[in-house]
Amino acid sequence: MNRILIVEDEKKIARFLELELQHEGYEVITAADGRSGLERALHDAPDLLILDLMLPEMSGIEVCRRIRRESDLPIIMLTAKDDVSDKVMGLDMGADDYMTKPFAIEELLARIRVALKKHRTSGEHAHAGTLHAGVLTLDPVSYEVVCRGTPVTLTKKEFDLLRYLMEHAGEAISRDQLLRDVWEYDYAGDTNVVDVYVRYLRHKLDEPFHIRTIQTIRSVGYMFRYEELPGSENA
Ligand code: CA
Repeated sequence: MNRILIVEDEKKIARFLELELQHEGYEVITAADGRSGLERALHDAPDLLILDLMLPEMSGIEVCRRIRRESDLPIIMLTAKDDVSDKVMGLDMGADDYMTKPFAIEELLARIRVALKKHRTSGEHAHAGTLHAGVLTLDPVSYEVVCRGTPVTLTKKEFDLLRYLMEHAGEAISRDQLLRDVWEYDYAGDTNVVDVYVRYLRHKLDEPFHIRTIQTIRSVGYMFRYEELPGSENA
């Protein structure tokens, strides 16, 4: 089921859209201001965003601009006034389409179908099993790691370690288990090598991208738990 995020501060319009989209079989999530809309767009994995332009907290243009630094989520803008410069700016910021209020719901539904289809077609090269955590994605088939839209070069062993930890996100994993499963040592080897590789990964991911990925679990080992560091949205 496709999940659609509606970011709209006018309650009546938001409610109307929510009901219509649910009726069409979409899962709907909503936000009533720009800042929480951006948050939900980046963390709640919607398939498409309907974004009002005039919003409290953060404008629709700014929301659009920030999403585009990290994601190719299809965006349909809603604009209340028939203002050409706003539309142009929105499209420049990477919105896929726009509608001027008031609009016919059938037209919006048609444009949603087009945007979803276009996105699906363009994304067909993405492999199943791709791991996501916030701004970080790891593709186990193509061996690509991308963070905030930037490819990150990892060695084979760094990649294997990151993949293993992401697959077990939220679980504390001992150094011995990592040695056994990632390095395939079936004896208790020197666990120091694990610490060294965790350091390499943090150096390549956490520091440059203002995130936290691999947490140290005292007297156990490590755990993948994704966090954005304060101020990272301005990075
Ligand atoms: Ca508005």
